[in-house]
Amino acid sequence: MQIGIPRESLQGETRVAATPETVKKYISAKHQVVVETGAGAAAHYPDDAYVAAGATLGTAEQALSAALVLKVRTPSAGELTSMKPGSVLVGMLDPFNPEGLQSLATAGLTAFALEAAPRITRAQSLDVLSSQANLAGYKAVLLAANQYGRLFPMMMTAAGTLKAARVVVLGAGVAGLQAIATAKRLGAVVEASDVRPAAKEQIESLGAKFIDVPFETDEEREIAQGVGGYARPMPAAWMARQAALVSERCKQADIIITTALIPGRPAPTLVSEETVQAMKPGSVIVDLAVERGGNCPLSEKDKVVVKHGVSLIGYTNLPAMVATDASALYARNVLDFLKLITDAEGQLAIQREDEIVAACLMSSDGNLLRSA
Ligand code: NAD
Repeated sequence: MQIGIPRESLQGETRVAATPETVKKYISAKHQVVVETGAGAAAHYPDDAYVAAGATLGTAEQALSAALVLKVRTPSAGELTSMKPGSVLVGMLDPFNPEGLQSLATAGLTAFALEAAPRITRAQSLDVLSSQANLAGYKAVLLAANQYGRLFPMMMTAAGTLKAARVVVLGAGVAGLQAIATAKRLGAVVEASDVRPAAKEQIESLGAKFIDVPFETDEEREIAQGVGGYARPMPAAWMARQAALVSERCKQADIIITTALIPGRPAPTLVSEETVQAMKPGSVIVDLAVERGGNCPLSEKDKVVVKHGVSLIGYTNLPAMVATDASALYARNVLDFLKLITDAEGQLAIQREDEIVAACLMSSDGNLLRSA
């Protein structure tokens, strides 16, 4: 079938949904691929490389009107007008945005949101949340290191000794664990907190200290297990004890990386203004949860702001800052997902009974299947 790869139109989105490597695989799987001219340019995949892989180049209109369209981000209203009713869309389609999902259904699409894939072993190779969050965690530490007026490692020089930076990571999911590993590699002393008890061992295995907020009731312990690997909102009493402990650790920190999220809900507030006020001048906070309201109320979307002498970095799309690798991993995620909805003859064959397919399917031929 014909696969279209449009250039992403969202401002600042530098990633692309297919690379020459994955295009080559689509061609060998008997698909035809039309790539919008310049689709991979911002991620450093030139048009020539797509042509060498077997694609043809076309306009946005041609790429969007394919029977199967691969995107990074959900299509804009303008893009939707170019898409054909009955066509299939695969991308990160924001499954918690009801209006967005409705607009995909209204456009008559069969739409798969890859973020909705279950966190099961078989889905790991198509897990876009993990592939992208991992890069975001890495990049967050580099941004912090760049902004910080001091060094990360302890350094003994003829001119004196420099102390190692103290890094606190809040939320130790995929992004947080990579942030811990990256900060450790740079030589920082790292502490981290998470609600899920399973995170303790993972944090410690990376050489960081776990900020332990003991459970005082069975209810707290039960809620903290989460659902499907994801956190649930913790009871207010636990949150208050966590806030007090985290605030103490944050006041000692030079760098805070926050990544705490609860699916479909606003991000929990973990670093208060009072804590920021008590931090040392020149400290840095990178708030990876800023798009969902932030783990710190002072961070601002897509800005670096200085408040109470502390720099707060609130970029919302860190994977787009490492677009070549982010696209390579995302494109492989998409390639793996397509194996569940196409057959060996290059035809559409949606395995609706497959739990991954069923979870990702948001609309089918224009009917909304999932309310956000
Ligand atoms: P996420 O982005 O939804 O959240 C980030 C982290 O914030 C989570 O670890 C969460 O527990 C934590 N958090 C929420 N509230 C918090 C609070 N008040 N204080 C501190 N931390 C808080 O999570 P994610 O990175 O998408 O990972 C979610 C889970 O999925 C993890 O358990 C991860 O190990 C698991 N996972 C499983 C697979 C798989 O088996 N296929 C793949 C990837 C991730």
